[in-house]
Amino acid sequence: MTTGFALAIHGGAGVAPRAQMSQDREAAYHAALARVLRTGESVLEAGGAALDAVTAAVAALEDEPLFNAGRGAVFTRDGTHEMDAAIMDGCTRRAGAVAGIIGPRNPVQLARAVMEQTDHVMMIGDGALALARDAGLAFEEDAYFFTQARWDSLQETLRMQADGTFDNDPSRRHGTVGAVARDRDGNLAAATSTGGMTAKRAGRVGDSPIIGAGTFANNVTCAISATGDGEAFIRHVVAHEIDARMRHAGQSLADAAEHVVQVELAAHEGSGGLIAIDCDGNVVMPFNCDGMYRGSVREGEAMQTAVYE
Ligand code: ASP
Repeated sequence: MTTGFALAIHGGAGVAPRAQMSQDREAAYHAALARVLRTGESVLEAGGAALDAVTAAVAALEDEPLFNAGRGAVFTRDGTHEMDAAIMDGCTRRAGAVAGIIGPRNPVQLARAVMEQTDHVMMIGDGALALARDAGLAFEEDAYFFTQARWDSLQETLRMQADGTFDNDPSRRHGTVGAVARDRDGNLAAATSTGGMTAKRAGRVGDSPIIGAGTFANNVTCAISATGDGEAFIRHVVAHEIDARMRHAGQSLADAAEHVVQVELAAHEGSGGLIAIDCDGNVVMPFNCDGMYRGSVREGEAMQTAVYE
């Protein structure tokens, strides 16, 4: 338990199998996670709000091409980008989300604009982009979002689908990014951003921007950001299920999250994981696959980053 701040981040549950992970590459992930933690931590250290910390951390993850969000997002099967993002304030239960967008450099900032500058929760299409322009958000050309590694993954996935060898290996999914925080005032917030699943159909929306599935925050219980097979996370309303177990069954965050990830999702092809924080600043980061890029820091303690078990 802490009365100080705490922050956790993830860079997705679609990690490369250990055998394919070079030491240099793994070190690059740890360094990127540490940079992002530092970005979010500095907001909380200065007395900033959980909402501002998760916005800053997720924007930094979006800027980092190693992760599947913003720059470095995966491709649809048509070779385009479509990004989803959401943010939620656990103090007020305000939330904002966008789906299927391309253009804004930081989709999480557009999700926040939906929350703060409209009466709506979720926006898509031209209306969402018009809001981004009105809000003065930075836009990028398509080339900014292109990375050779994601393009190669798309070609490999399309080839495997065509010759019938596609195996739904989570490492080809490439994850999602997210952050959860508790500030010194005890307020919780969560944010998630993703390019979705490699070779998804144009128009497909995953769990990340769906409040209660991939993103959720409630000061009374917890804040959650998920990563994994989005369709399973939507069907199991993952984040809300954890919140409900805490409220109605009196479960701890650790017990509720462990059950949902290791029992419910694992039994229903819901490969993935999540990061979550409760109102006492306890952090849990369960996953049911090979690994999850993740890290956390609590006030007065050293930060930790991890990829595998
Ligand atoms: N949950 C994301 C989605 O379904 C993908 C992931 O986290 O790997 O869009």
